[in-house]
Amino acid sequence: MAKTLRLILGDQLNLQHSWYEEKDTEVTYLMMEMRQETDYVKHHIQKVVGFFHAMRNFAKEVRAKGHDLIYLKISDEQNQQDLEKNIKGLIQEHDFEAFEYQLPDEYRLDQQLKTLCDSLDLPTRSVDTQHFLCERGFLEDFFKGKKTYLMESFYRQMRKDFDILMDGKDPVKDKWNFDQENRSALKDKRLLRKPKLHGKNLAHLVDEIEDAGVSTMGSIVKSNYPWPTSREESLEVLDHFCQNLLVNFGTYQDALTTWDPYLFHSRLSFAMNTKMLSPLEVVKKVENYWEEHQDDIDIAQVEGFIRQIIGWREYMRGIYWAKMPDFAEMNFFGHDRKLPEWFWTGRTKMKCLSESINQSLELAYAHHIQRLMVTGNFMLLAGIDPDEIDQWYLGIYIDAIEWVEITNTRGMSQFADGGIVGTKPYVSSANYIKKQGNYCSHCAYDPGKKTGEGACPFNSLYWHFYDRNRDKLEKNPRIGMAYRTLDKMKNKEEILEQAEKYLEGIEDL
Ligand code: FAD
Ligand code: SF4
Repeated sequence: MAKTLRLILGDQLNLQHSWYEEKDTEVTYLMMEMRQETDYVKHHIQKVVGFFHAMRNFAKEVRAKGHDLIYLKISDEQNQQDLEKNIKGLIQEHDFEAFEYQLPDEYRLDQQLKTLCDSLDLPTRSVDTQHFLCERGFLEDFFKGKKTYLMESFYRQMRKDFDILMDGKDPVKDKWNFDQENRSALKDKRLLRKPKLHGKNLAHLVDEIEDAGVSTMGSIVKSNYPWPTSREESLEVLDHFCQNLLVNFGTYQDALTTWDPYLFHSRLSFAMNTKMLSPLEVVKKVENYWEEHQDDIDIAQVEGFIRQIIGWREYMRGIYWAKMPDFAEMNFFGHDRKLPEWFWTGRTKMKCLSESINQSLELAYAHHIQRLMVTGNFMLLAGIDPDEIDQWYLGIYIDAIEWVEITNTRGMSQFADGGIVGTKPYVSSANYIKKQGNYCSHCAYDPGKKTGEGACPFNSLYWHFYDRNRDKLEKNPRIGMAYRTLDKMKNKEEILEQAEKYLEGIEDL
């Protein structure tokens, strides 16, 4: 074999990859912490620390298996902070004769690596990351010729293809989807279980990142870093989930509460998105655990969890590769309002938003319904520019990588794709937020009022959204009812005026 340089990106920490099965003295691996990656958006400090620490741990493990590996730290003098410059410099310095990489999950890096390879004067090769269940183009082929890509039919195919929760050709317990049973508000605090937090002291790394001049957002407790940054720790989080949280995962999946930021959610997205864990091993582990504990855990919990991973997660990745780069430009409603400043500070009187935003700034985490039905819902109702929205979501969450961020944000949450991911926009008035938990009972606004002093902004903005987008939505068969209700309202004008007032004073809400 020719003397080969193999690139490992920061989200390619898959120790099970066939690359590492055998030691080859002709191969040198390369990992780099780079300003190009810390600076393309302003990231949460916990995210930068999490990635770098996980990368450093991964490098140790690869070396422990006997492989040669070059690691460029953010603070290293020879680090040129740019993928292309570093690789070209190392090829020259070490006389590498071939260059190989694993296919990146981001369009941006995919383009950059293709351009780099075109400019190199040596053989290059890309290989699969061996992480996802499907190849990049599977979803596009699966839905060839269809305008809407229905997640449910893709999900069922995955269940069959990978024999997950199947009883021969049929789904176990004779039903594919138990979503209807997974919508409760949490009424009893005593059900809550402690999350598995890895309280590591990473002060040295935080200081190193700060000294390098990387600009970040959010907060961190240097001596108490909570996220898993190795495969071993990731497996501990998975075990903890099976043993303590799975039992209530589905039931309270959509709950909103001030009592706890994590509820029964797994906190596994970072471990999976960096590939420390594979999606198949996660779902197989959960399925096996359920099979052994069927008397205690009902199928709705397990099916709900598995659907998120082999359904939504794989599906979003398929959408990304089917629709990029156009997807990143989509703005179906033509929204162009600036994101209010309080999204960066958490200073708003709206309790649902202050809870979700402050928690995100503090923990780099919010669960799905906070992202979709609180922050995302407000942004859509208020008509915020999807570019600003993407910057926020892509920066703030520990698990935010473009392929899964943008498809959730522009697609699922903002309907900026005009209905590729979802069949109708996810919007709600205060009613939904009130039903799902206790935010409204701690709020300065009144969820029962649409207009006047203290009326909840969600209520008037909800109708304003429908009113201003009538031409785009009225013909949607799943929405017609909303327009019939709006047109019958006696105080419609008053509600719309209230919304206008709130939009004008959006910074003061
Ligand atoms: P759990 O609730 O325990 O779910 C288990 C796993 O299912 C998750 O770890 C995740 O891998 C997967 N999953 C669940 N929902 C989705 C989904 N809609 N799309 C893809 N995978 C899903 N997820 C990210 O990984 N990165 C993001 O940047 C991201 N941005 C989002 C932005 C918006 C506006 C919305 C509405 C959702 C976003 N999601 C994103 C999806 C989801 O909210 C997170 O995956 C989840 O909250 C992560 O926490 P958890 O691991 O505790 O998840
Ligand atoms: Fe949110 Fe309105 Fe409820 Fe306040 S009243 S928590 S703003 S939904």
